[in-house]
Amino acid sequence: MYEIRGLNEECGVFGIWGHPEASELTYIALHSLQHRGQEGAGMVVSNGSYLFGARGMGLLTDALTKDQLRSLKTFPYAIGHVRYATTGGSELSNVQPFLFKSHHGDLGLAHNGNLVNAMNIRRALEDEGAIFQTSSDSEVFAHLLRRSKAGGKKARIKSALRQLKGAFAFVIMHEDSLTVAVDDHGVRPLMLGKIDGAYCVASETCAFAAINAEYIRDIEPGELITMTDDGIDFDRYTETDKPNMCSMEYIYFARADSEFRGTSTYTIRKALGKALYKEMDVEADIVIGVPDSSLAAAKGFSDASGIPQEQGLLKNRYVGRTFISPGQEARERAVRMKLSPVKDIVDGKRVIVIDDSIVRGTTSKFIVKALRKAGAKEIHMGVSSPPIKNPCYYGIDVSTHAEIIASKKSPEEICDRIGADSLTYLSVERMHEVYRTYGSRGECDACFTGKYPIEIIDQVLPQEKDLKTKGV
Ligand code: SF4
Repeated sequence: MYEIRGLNEECGVFGIWGHPEASELTYIALHSLQHRGQEGAGMVVSNGSYLFGARGMGLLTDALTKDQLRSLKTFPYAIGHVRYATTGGSELSNVQPFLFKSHHGDLGLAHNGNLVNAMNIRRALEDEGAIFQTSSDSEVFAHLLRRSKAGGKKARIKSALRQLKGAFAFVIMHEDSLTVAVDDHGVRPLMLGKIDGAYCVASETCAFAAINAEYIRDIEPGELITMTDDGIDFDRYTETDKPNMCSMEYIYFARADSEFRGTSTYTIRKALGKALYKEMDVEADIVIGVPDSSLAAAKGFSDASGIPQEQGLLKNRYVGRTFISPGQEARERAVRMKLSPVKDIVDGKRVIVIDDSIVRGTTSKFIVKALRKAGAKEIHMGVSSPPIKNPCYYGIDVSTHAEIIASKKSPEEICDRIGADSLTYLSVERMHEVYRTYGSRGECDACFTGKYPIEIIDQVLPQEKDLKTKGV
């Protein structure tokens, strides 16, 4: 649901080739990826000769009507997208998958991530006469693809991809093929699966579980996979390979049952909680996790420390975003509606609260205040990630510097601000140690360290991009 702490995933994608129930499976898969974007959703399908699409605003169930779904039902090839819209971009024209028509054929496009040179390319293309229909960075790819002089569809896709910088997991549909590509840093996840002999791809493996597909493997940085009726072709669009998967996918964004390299996010979060215990020397009576994304880390902390884990905070799952508007006061009201302490669990206790991240500090401040009111004797905050100090240019809306509390304040000052008795963050080193244990080849940690693995050419945050594109 709508996130109140200032961390928002940008998108989720899905694609399937050659299954009689492709569009229904896509709908179900998108449903399980809904946590990655709630502002809009859509599908593009192929009958082998033409592409057809439907998209709409809001949650999947609102975005696609029954009539639209019925009209897409009989097609064996489908792609889908759920979108989180950044400031200024919450409009239908930006909802994906995009569907482009030309005399060369149709093109369906779904993108997860953010390009860091799209504005530069767009300006150059506009100067040459190109007209853009959306303010989305993803449309740049369609123009580059259409203009490529390379021989053959795959060569044209490769040449367009090579001009892009930034984070992308692309799902590209032509009438007769489905092509997927991941940037050479592998910032955004994309997984390969199979169901009834048909291949499928998804941002997270929870989509495979929802449709009963087999999870085959993670798609590698720089990889290019093409599916046609003749089978599947594994290739690369670049020889460069510098893995930098987004750390926040493990910490917060991905669903707990989603797997990376065969390990669930739940297990990785539990290990982060265990690692935090090594850095947090505090005595307490109970450990509580902030529901839902921090419950696994709280379990890991509890296992390592021997301090019992209790459900001291409950989450109201039915808080719609209708009531939540921007602004500090509204945000505080939203947290109050969303989280409440269980009084007899925390009353008179020394409590360790485990949260996966702190962005603005609004949620933490509310939690501490509410737990004190419920009678907690001491409140020690443990964060199973390092301090977030920098915005993200690669497809996550982590707010701007001005809103990120740790960009200006030390942990001691933050502790003071949120009113806790102590505050401990996981160190960057231990975080990477945990990832290495689970087979990681390298993670992006730029929002913690400021070391951006991909040069930021446009110097524009994703949430500012739409405004800039419109010349605001
Ligand atoms: S900057 Fe942070 S949120 Fe963005 S990709 Fe890197 S780790 Fe993920």
